[in-house]
Amino acid sequence: MGVVVQKYGGSSLADAQGVKRVAQRIVATKKLGHDVCVVVSAMGDTTDELRDLAEQISPLPPARELDMLLTAGERISMALLAMAIANLGQTARSFTGSQAGVITDSAHGRAKIIDITPGRIESALAAGDVAIVAGFQGVSMDTKDVTTLGRGASDTTAVALAAALAADVCEIYTDVDGIFTADPRIVPAARRIDHASYEEMLEMCACGAKVLHLRSVEYARTHDIPIHVRSSFSDRPGTWVDNRSEVEPVEQAIVTGVAHDRSESKITVAGVPDKVGEAARLFEALADAGINIDMIVQNIPAPGGTSTDISFTLPRVDGQTAMEALARLQPEVGFEQLLYDDRVGKVSLVGAGMRTHPGVTARFFAALAAAGVNVEMISTSEIRISVIVDEDQVDAAVASAHHAFDLDAAEVEAVVYGGTGR
Ligand code: ASP
Ligand code: MG
Repeated sequence: MGVVVQKYGGSSLADAQGVKRVAQRIVATKKLGHDVCVVVSAMGDTTDELRDLAEQISPLPPARELDMLLTAGERISMALLAMAIANLGQTARSFTGSQAGVITDSAHGRAKIIDITPGRIESALAAGDVAIVAGFQGVSMDTKDVTTLGRGASDTTAVALAAALAADVCEIYTDVDGIFTADPRIVPAARRIDHASYEEMLEMCACGAKVLHLRSVEYARTHDIPIHVRSSFSDRPGTWVDNRSEVEPVEQAIVTGVAHDRSESKITVAGVPDKVGEAARLFEALADAGINIDMIVQNIPAPGGTSTDISFTLPRVDGQTAMEALARLQPEVGFEQLLYDDRVGKVSLVGAGMRTHPGVTARFFAALAAAGVNVEMISTSEIRISVIVDEDQVDAAVASAHHAFDLDAAEVEAVVYGGTGR
């Protein structure tokens, strides 16, 4: 039997009891004859607590030291888990990201994996040990410093290791039974998705679904690693993310899920002279400030008019920086005013079935209208429609769209087993 990579999130490892429970699961997998490599997150809310602690010392800690601090969270869980597994009579060895051969660039707090050289993991597995790897961290190829890969990136460590070890599957253990058709806190009748393609999952993650780290899905698609997202608190099957639908097309629902995101804000540049090159100047300034733009809408100038309005959305955390960068351009470009709105939310409908079914947009907009939701901006891809709405209307929009596409389950399926939702 082949290699299985299992990743356990913070809510599965929240306390000593959780660590022992996870150890039992791992030993059971090992007893089935698999080689088991485990990736862990920090226990419970440890990463947030470490951040808070750093903030009390310094409002702007050196990035290198912040990474050094945050990687400690995963070291705690990996060592405790190795002890718990040893108690069950199975040998286990824990490794930091650096020891596991996770080589990254040197961008602290958002490092990218460049290469994985898992020699020590392979030897541990060959010796019959369970190998435990600290998630979301690596070592910079250039500076040799310890790096972190970004919040939630233990998923990415797990998928990258699964690829490097040619694993059969990467199991992502969490506190819900998989990925749901909407956030069960908003739509109690949300259904567990049995199966999603990589591209659907990429769209869901990019649109605010938080179950999987976006880069983990990109990695899985590139290396063709099946991901199984499931609960560590139950034995139920979860959600498979793989390329099955490309291999054996199945009759699928038009819409796979409804995602939402409250992390964006909207900027409107009003009265931009309607001349070639003005938009380029605005967006170049934002690009130079390192800001990612999401949706863009430009109004058509009124007949005979000479100016237009450009609105776009961006991460809320970048709002201040963006407004300052644009304000500096005002004398040069000569637009009238800048408006900032951080009370917006994005609601997205995702499904590969959209490609072949007409009328999805009409049905979506009818559902929004029925819920009294006003649409501010729209963007689409082949398999997604997203709208920007007032933040207070996000819940109503999600619930109404979920219902309109017949996604509601007859009975409540979603059980949230743990986590503080932090
Ligand atoms: N512990 C890290 C975080 O909280 C990484 C992870 O959980 O994936 O972001
Ligand atoms: Mg996570």
